[in-house]
Amino acid sequence: MTDIKRLAVLTSGGDAPGMNTCIRAVARCALFNGCDVIGIRDGYEGLLRGDMAPLDAREVGGIIQRGGTILGTARSEEFRTEAGQLSAMQILKQHGVDGLVVIGGDGSMRGARALAARGLPIVGVPATIDNDMWGTNMAIGVDTALNTICDAIDKLRDTASSHRRAFLIETMGRNCGYLAVMAGVIGGAEVVLIPEAPVTIEEVAAKVEDAYKRGKTHSIIIVSEGANILTTELAGALEKMSVGFSTRITILGHIQRGGRPTAFDRLLASRMGVKAVDALLAGQTDVMMGLRGREVEPVPLEDVVTRQREANLDYYEMAKMLAF
Ligand code: ATP
Repeated sequence: MTDIKRLAVLTSGGDAPGMNTCIRAVARCALFNGCDVIGIRDGYEGLLRGDMAPLDAREVGGIIQRGGTILGTARSEEFRTEAGQLSAMQILKQHGVDGLVVIGGDGSMRGARALAARGLPIVGVPATIDNDMWGTNMAIGVDTALNTICDAIDKLRDTASSHRRAFLIETMGRNCGYLAVMAGVIGGAEVVLIPEAPVTIEEVAAKVEDAYKRGKTHSIIIVSEGANILTTELAGALEKMSVGFSTRITILGHIQRGGRPTAFDRLLASRMGVKAVDALLAGQTDVMMGLRGREVEPVPLEDVVTRQREANLDYYEMAKMLAF
């Protein structure tokens, strides 16, 4: 065991559903273990402002089901600098913080690594809807985002079938096609475009036209935001190529980030929050909690920030096969 007496928690980077559930788990687990808990507002930016306040058990009540993050989140350029990190260490010291849980995406883990390297006991928790992080099968927020996407596809398919349309549905994910591929499988898409598997407009058009000729009443095309063809460009080209269906675009955008976390995300966030505090109190640092198989286990932050998550093209192929 360590002598951590005051533990802080912050959320950083893009918000993800389940962050609140995790804040609650971190705070309650730390309080249960006799620690003071400090909530840092607005990620590393708030940390540099010294914007932090004690969190008690009641303050994290009623948030288990709320999307977003009660602590707020932000991106900070200053924190990327050596001066920013030195200043952050000093501010934490002034506030008597001797352990930190960082909830966020891969950039946030880079920040956590930087503070760990300066000697602060620190544990990361992965939270990003993109699921682009090495070291965890699932990050907090991914399952909720997928449920939101699935719901949207189901609704769009109703109208697509009625009008014999091809719907181009753009999903988030930046350079990672995870959300798009999974959306393709669970939403029954005819075509999925992801950054990891570039295609030509002609290939997409051939698939859509083929689906039309096979008697399909609609066509769902999922386009990851990082795909090699822009959604608008593809829609314009398909319209000109007369592939059978008329085309419509829906860019799902930030609705994928919001909403009540699913049961899966709440459970994952609770487990990871508790494990993060347990790890810190047991003297572990410089690690991130990862879902490995069915277990939540620590993985080195060094690996998280240096290794690249590989795209799982098996699901991509599965989506293609099931579109027959
Ligand atoms: P998301 O995946 O949802 O975008 P993220 O955590 O990857 O979340 P970023 O904007 O990449 O979001 O990172 C959040 C913050 O982490 C940055 O604003 C910055 O303050 C800090 N950060 C990112 N990279 C580094 C780095 N190399 N060194 C120190 N801090 C960093």
